[in-house]
Amino acid sequence: MSKQINVALIGNPNTGKTSVFNALTGLNQKVANYPGITVDKKEGVCKLSHVLKAHILDLPGTYSLNASSLDENIVIELLLNKNNKDFPDVAIIVSDVENFKRNLLLFTQIKDLEIPTILVINMADRMSAKGISLNIPYLEEALKTKIALVSARKNTGIAYLKTLISNYRELSLEPCLNASSIDPPYFDQLRSAFPNQQLYKLWLVITQDVNFGKINRQEMDVAVFKTKSKSDLKRLQQKETIKRYQFINNVLKQGQTIDISKAKDFRATLDRLTMHKFWGYAIFFVILLSIFQAIYDWSSTPMDYIDASFAQLSEWTKATLPSGVFTDLLADGIIAGVGGIVIFIPQIAFLFLFIAILEESGYMSRVVFLMDRVMRRFGLSGKSVIPLISGTACAIPAIMATRNIENWKERLITILVTPFITCSARLPVYLIIISLVIPQGRFLGLSYQALTLMLLYLIGFGMAILSAATLNRLLKFRSKSFFVVEMPSFKVPMFKNVAITVLEKTRTFVFEAGKIILAISVLIWVLASNGPGDSFKNASSIVQQENVDLDSDQVDQKIAAYKLEHSYIGLIGKSIEPLIRPLGYDWKIGIGLVTSFAAREVFVGTLATIYSVGGNNPDTLKQKMSAEKRADGSAVFSLASGISLLLFYAFAMQCMSTLAVVRRETNSWKWPIIQLFGMTFIAYVISLIAFQLIQ
Ligand code: GDP
Ligand code: MG
Repeated sequence: MSKQINVALIGNPNTGKTSVFNALTGLNQKVANYPGITVDKKEGVCKLSHVLKAHILDLPGTYSLNASSLDENIVIELLLNKNNKDFPDVAIIVSDVENFKRNLLLFTQIKDLEIPTILVINMADRMSAKGISLNIPYLEEALKTKIALVSARKNTGIAYLKTLISNYRELSLEPCLNASSIDPPYFDQLRSAFPNQQLYKLWLVITQDVNFGKINRQEMDVAVFKTKSKSDLKRLQQKETIKRYQFINNVLKQGQTIDISKAKDFRATLDRLTMHKFWGYAIFFVILLSIFQAIYDWSSTPMDYIDASFAQLSEWTKATLPSGVFTDLLADGIIAGVGGIVIFIPQIAFLFLFIAILEESGYMSRVVFLMDRVMRRFGLSGKSVIPLISGTACAIPAIMATRNIENWKERLITILVTPFITCSARLPVYLIIISLVIPQGRFLGLSYQALTLMLLYLIGFGMAILSAATLNRLLKFRSKSFFVVEMPSFKVPMFKNVAITVLEKTRTFVFEAGKIILAISVLIWVLASNGPGDSFKNASSIVQQENVDLDSDQVDQKIAAYKLEHSYIGLIGKSIEPLIRPLGYDWKIGIGLVTSFAAREVFVGTLATIYSVGGNNPDTLKQKMSAEKRADGSAVFSLASGISLLLFYAFAMQCMSTLAVVRRETNSWKWPIIQLFGMTFIAYVISLIAFQLIQ
């Protein structure tokens, strides 16, 4: 019988927890959410021997057990609750040699909870460059713990760490500090009020409320025990921290020597340059431009290939299987739906490849620091920059990239406004409408058409910022967070960490958001390929009767158009006509608006079907569209209706895939629904005003 123990990796941000986690678990890991909130919960399994396995949890970074953020609260809730199924049999505190002293604060706190601990000192490979040497046996003695000196990068010390975990029964439970020395009389009171509880744990439960608010108190009802005011408790916490540092300083006096003369740091120049008031922004701008150029360039080929392959597969299915509803469902519903998911993979993979490299190298922290001042005015965070800019490729990876914004309010605002950014799926729609309604002339050497396109990008960005500022006022959230950015030193990214991030993000998208996307695709297919009454059923005979002189290709196109018109989708398009007529649209555009929901660029394809072009027909879609007349003889695509339509596409939430991702990232239907109606309302009003003014 093999036994499994719980191991928790705990430590300050950027000490290498995830790298150690990857070294221990390899690909034996999965990422889920903590219950009820969307903070990554990384778990994995490490096989220690034939009879012993470790379930390893990579906890969010935390500076101390005095929680000031959601992330820290997760760690504390776990450590205070013995009934939690993840409660650790062993706590591994990951520290790094360069910030050893600061890391030890958290270590001494966890020791005082009397949980079996192992201290990992990571980044051992940096010791010689930094002139650091450690007296490990002395430190083990003084800190009452086992120590593993590790380099996750060079994969050294990992085997020894595994041995230490295997022998978890031998780990010491002795605390580092005597908690009651913080305030002896108060702690005596505590002890007599709760004789069966561990003292330091009581102290944390009490002070936790002071810092963060409600926590799940489990079996400890300390609410009644109020002999100190909030400010007194805060003062005692500060005293605790000072006492801990006194202890740590004493230990390090003997346990650590740093030879400053050896600590030549070439990175200092790079640091100064990337944080510079002017060059900092310039460098960031160039890096961003290159990244997004690369995402466009590198993903277009695989995306075309995926597109073509799924189209072929769909054709092949229709040709091979006996024709019928099932084959149609498979070919046009399911295969097309899966294709609509897979097509996003290149963009997601490349974006996260670059993000992971920026994060791994330590550059991202500098950008966040640099941009934070600007973004904060709009209720956003320095970390919103990457999602907002990634939104120009596609809102889906962009929204997935908001995960590292710790402050929930800033993260939510970023998620809500990102879809205003002009994504690449809007481009085909913009291009065809612009070419139809915007005149050919030039202004200051720039063509009106190019200017319009640029304006649309600016409008999207402006709307995102404007709504962020508005939401910042409207949303009444308590979002307490200190702005602490870690400034890790520059490092060469570790391949393993980057690869695991990319794999994980892609998998999450395909299997989680993908489910919803597939379901809606099939729904849209059902609505488009079925219709009430006889006109849909008898489409082919009706069309054939009316068009005896046309060749078979043309008849087929007419049938497709006729069917679409009389399908449920067609009916929806027609029934919303009264609603969209004030914007300058007819029911054919209405159908396009509805099918756009599968993906915005589908608009063009839908119009192509409904105007039945292609094959031997000499007219292009553009010619067909410009020839389209209203009942009164005026053009359907006029300047007024064209601009109204452009603005509608700029602002409306017409992308079910984005909604699916928002649903996943906010863990509720509330926000995607608010987004759907809010954005569509804004789009409607603005398009209405535009059409009525220009007309
Ligand atoms: P976490 O925030 O604690 O999960 O830390 P990560 O595992 O993400 O690592 C933070 C940074 O430290 C990354 O840039 C890693 O490449 C780097 N890193 C991790 N382990 C080592 C190591 O042993 N040596 C060196 N030089 N760098 C490391
Ligand atoms: Mg990590």
